[in-house]
Amino acid sequence: MKTLDVIIPFYNEEECINPLIEELFNLRNTLKDTLDVNFIFVNDGSTDNGAKLIQDKCSQNNFIKLINLSRNFGHETATTAGLDYSKGDYTVIIDADLQDPPNLIPEMYKILCENNCHVVHAVRKHREKETLFKKISADIFYRILKIFSTNPVTTNSGDFKLFTADVRDAVKSIREHNRYLRGIIDWSGFKSTYYYYNRAGRKAGKTKYSPQELFVLAFNAFISFADKLVYLILIFAFLFLIFSIILIFFRKYTMGALVFIQAIQTFAIGLIGIYIKNISQDTKNRPLYFIDTKYNLD
Ligand code: UDP
Ligand code: MG
Repeated sequence: MKTLDVIIPFYNEEECINPLIEELFNLRNTLKDTLDVNFIFVNDGSTDNGAKLIQDKCSQNNFIKLINLSRNFGHETATTAGLDYSKGDYTVIIDADLQDPPNLIPEMYKILCENNCHVVHAVRKHREKETLFKKISADIFYRILKIFSTNPVTTNSGDFKLFTADVRDAVKSIREHNRYLRGIIDWSGFKSTYYYYNRAGRKAGKTKYSPQELFVLAFNAFISFADKLVYLILIFAFLFLIFSIILIFFRKYTMGALVFIQAIQTFAIGLIGIYIKNISQDTKNRPLYFIDTKYNLD
């Protein structure tokens, strides 16, 4: 039987653990004739009793695994730790607060098989109990990222995704520190499809992302994936140049000369930016490509 690993990073989610485990047992039961399901919990340096609750379950159930990280490394890194230990044919990432309901996973698996693809992105139709600020900022963020990214960007989808071992191994091979997993999965380029759902509010507790942390996540995403952003500087340089020519044409020589110097400076900054972009791409050492299928080759 094929295997599915459910990766669950968590940080101080004590109140959610028991209802979550109940849902996960239901999931295992629903899929018992189709998939052998394992749960990989990653404790991201929690200071509450959540890990202890899971540890107790580990002793009775071999399919429940627990990784305790040495401290809080953040959601993206904790998820990566889970992926590193995932060996199944399929992997799905969920949050611990039941905002990504495990009972949707069988349907996502069905869609993956029917469409013969590698990734199913769970896309949020509605976001319940989220502030207007978060909804609007998420919308603006995805729009801008889409404009400035060379690669396709999946909008309104968090980390709730089901994917094949090929995708998981591709993601595992990318080891950059400023991680933005959604971007990495999109970047890997494997054929994907969507599953639309209404994202409910948290089961209990509070969001672990402060507005500042969300900003840092968005900023990391831009730095890593909005690779066209640097060309904006060159466009500004060009606009300055045109402006300086217009000024000179109208005999505003001093102003024209100043704007011309500005154009050259902006161009120089853009050029340096492009060199740095290329250097940073090389230091990230991302694989050059991933293979979907091969014929008559090992
Ligand atoms: N999380 C984590 N480490 C952190 C912050 C969050 O592992 O430093 C986990 C958290 O416990 C949850 C998931 O990441 O399982 C998503 O976090 P949260 O629900 O707070 O984010 P939101 O849904 O509000 O975007
Ligand atoms: Mg949440």
